[in-house]
Amino acid sequence: MSSSFFQGVYFGLVTVASCIRVIYTRQYRKTSIAKDHRTAADALLTALPALGMFVLPIVYVLTPWLDFADYHLPPWASWIGVAIFALAIWLLRRSHSDLARNWSPRLELLEGHSLVTHGVFRHIRHPMYAAHWLWGIAQVFLLQNWIAGFSMLVTFLPSYLYRGRVEEEMMIDHFGDAYCEYMARTGRIIPQLRN
Ligand code: SAH
Repeated sequence: MSSSFFQGVYFGLVTVASCIRVIYTRQYRKTSIAKDHRTAADALLTALPALGMFVLPIVYVLTPWLDFADYHLPPWASWIGVAIFALAIWLLRRSHSDLARNWSPRLELLEGHSLVTHGVFRHIRHPMYAAHWLWGIAQVFLLQNWIAGFSMLVTFLPSYLYRGRVEEEMMIDHFGDAYCEYMARTGRIIPQLRN
């Protein structure tokens, strides 16, 4: 299998993930915001991963500009990338379905917002962000280039570090002890096996 085959698979899987996001964004637009915690920093940091998820991968496949930074992996490694991306899509879909009408792409609480602790949220507090990390890891295997391959991991890191902290502060502020107890029994993106 050639590297362009796996690049095609990458964009196919990106399309599937984007369709999931579009479906839930439509549903989100019908809900009303109860408490707005948005900041300029969050808006900037959440826009940044688009560079690593879409812009640099597109530049990589459509132009020869990044070819100087190519590396080569055996086909089995690319298949591992496909499996990791498939897992990311499953987790993204499950997180959306578990959060249902409580999902927002921004730092905000919606009308009638309830704390979700079931499904994939039973084990980890940030399954959606975990799905983004898996996407980033898959990209390293599928786009074999030091710039385009690692661009998602690099651009997602600042958003994850900022969001993870500020979102949890917002949830504690709103749900109080219920969220603190939930935090004590779950991991951020890796399940706490002892619980
Ligand atoms: N951090 C979560 C959700 C990301 S979407 C994840 O990675 O899966 C971000 C929005 O989801 C936040 O603004 C908040 O309103 C909402 N949210 C996050 N965790 C939640 C939970 N456990 N229950 C209900 N809403 C939650």
